[in-house]
Amino acid sequence: MIKLFLFDIEGTTTDIHFVHKVLFPYSNQCLEEYILHHQTHPQIIKAIADARTTVWEEEQKQLGLYEVIAKFKSWIKQDRKHGALKTIQGLIWDVGYSKGEFKGHLYPDVKPFFEKILSTKSMIGIYSSGSVHAQKLIFGFSTEGDLTPMISHYFDTKVGGKRERSSYEKIAELTGLKIQEIHFFSDIPEELKAAKEAGMGVTQLLREGTKSSEFEGITSFTDFMDII
Ligand SMILES: [Mg+2]
Repeated sequence: MIKLFLFDIEGTTTDIHFVHKVLFPYSNQCLEEYILHHQTHPQIIKAIADARTTVWEEEQKQLGLYEVIAKFKSWIKQDRKHGALKTIQGLIWDVGYSKGEFKGHLYPDVKPFFEKILSTKSMIGIYSSGSVHAQKLIFGFSTEGDLTPMISHYFDTKVGGKRERSSYEKIAELTGLKIQEIHFFSDIPEELKAAKEAGMGVTQLLREGTKSSEFEGITSFTDFMDII
């Protein structure tokens, strides 16, 4: 029996373009003003210092404040997963979500599937390369309302990369479940392969534009509802 249903976000519960077409442009647009207005905020001080350290290590350059801002913007463009950038983006998105500038996109089949899972006394978990904080924002301020009360576990890359088998073993260890009791949904075959090698059941989500693979695929969670 499946005790934990584990979900990837981008391309699985959420349109793959949401992050790149909504969240990234918003953070890019607000970055300069946010940093200039929060320069004395401890998290911003640390993020700026961390970015300067990285640039010093990589390019042996000392950056002024505006150069740090320009660097962050170039990292957004490259989709660089730097901790300092993630921190600042998280803070900016907090503001955007709470002001209602946008909502976390969820496909309409997600909430009914979550309800079905909970009705069987199973649990719901998220595993995404976006930070746990960013995950909670997507599900907390979503197009389907606040779904965070339905979710019991959140994992990000602190447990390791999504294409590494050990990350899935770590998730099982952290939840105290047998790995066979966890089922993972993702659009990316390499992630499914790692989860399957670790011992999880896996299903590929074939949202618009996703290519099928050797793994069992569904176009909507509705296809999975009757199985559980
Ligand atoms: Mg994905």
